[in-house]
Amino acid sequence: MTSLKGDQGTTRALNRRLILNEIRRQGPTSRARLAEQTGLSPAAITFVTTELLQEGLLIEKGERRPIPLDIHYSGHFVIGLKLMESRLEAVLTDLSTQILARTSLDLPDHQPETVARYAARAREELCQQSGVDAQKLLGVGMGLPGVIDAKSGICLLSGRFGWKDIPIARLISEHTQLPVWVDNDVNAFAVAERLFGSGKNTPNFVVVTVGRAIGSAIVMEGKLYRGRNGGAGEFGHTLSEYRGRKCECGRLGCLEAYASEHSLLRHFQEISPRHHNIQMEGLLKLIDRKNERILNVLEDAGSRLGRNLADMANLLNPDLIVLGGEGVRLGEAFFRPMRLAFRERAFDCVAEDLPIAIHDWGDDAWARGAAGLATEHFFDFEVQPSEGLENN
Ligand SMILES: [Zn+2]
Repeated sequence: MTSLKGDQGTTRALNRRLILNEIRRQGPTSRARLAEQTGLSPAAITFVTTELLQEGLLIEKGERRPIPLDIHYSGHFVIGLKLMESRLEAVLTDLSTQILARTSLDLPDHQPETVARYAARAREELCQQSGVDAQKLLGVGMGLPGVIDAKSGICLLSGRFGWKDIPIARLISEHTQLPVWVDNDVNAFAVAERLFGSGKNTPNFVVVTVGRAIGSAIVMEGKLYRGRNGGAGEFGHTLSEYRGRKCECGRLGCLEAYASEHSLLRHFQEISPRHHNIQMEGLLKLIDRKNERILNVLEDAGSRLGRNLADMANLLNPDLIVLGGEGVRLGEAFFRPMRLAFRERAFDCVAEDLPIAIHDWGDDAWARGAAGLATEHFFDFEVQPSEGLENN
């Protein structure tokens, strides 16, 4: 794919991308309908689809004419990695990010070398578990919290792992012998949502995740907005209270210091001496039992989230907001006050009919999102991997 040169190559790449993405959005589609939808000539459609069929990237579905073409989702596979505080979550998926195998490896430390070594172990385990031939792996996607230069695959900064300017994509590529794409974990989740989730048919949407931290990703005109050096979307560090509580980033009054799971747990431990040791599981039980103190904490945290979310919506006027992260388990005690505060503060024309979708969050959601980073490459021939395509 790197050898594509000149106008012809570019047009060819563009046409391939156009057709693959049309089928991804619409599902199985006939050649005639593809011509109609893409504006390409029937001859061009025949040329490109024949090529894609020969390469095994498309398949013919069914026998009734006109025979619809579909993407050969199970023809290639990718690996998704999510780096957590004490472990590496890994999944093997097909091209639709459908999970075929999963594993979770405990990490002895956060040294980049260690992570790369464990990524190679995960690759081996996943291939064994799923029976997928390693030759059919297209690459690895990895998501981690922090500021990532996705182009170079360098982690510019990750406070949680103490990383600065780490060429993590290159390290993992050396160990796994695969092309590697690395991005911020919330960006990775947004990419997967754009490909196969609720953002599939929506060019402008915002993803906000609530968990250990609060993150966001912005998709505008169908593309992830990364900002100048990958730092866009630091929604968790927008202001909730001037000179308020101290945030992990060192500043005062960030939204994250009030509304992340971590913060509201800590806050509850402080105000309820009986529960000074309580952990998330216990807290969820108290929510179930409608403990008044915790409901108040959630109301405060949810309202704060809703207010800043309204600011973001007023700024970007998106078609959709997707909420994800472990925090979705906090449920309506958190989201009801969030919606109320949102409606109070967002402009009517912005908030009217704006769907706020709460993602049905599972343990695999982060790793599956990361797999989307590698899958995206399949649908976008101009995207270069962070590391390792030369070897492929
Ligand atoms: Zn902060």
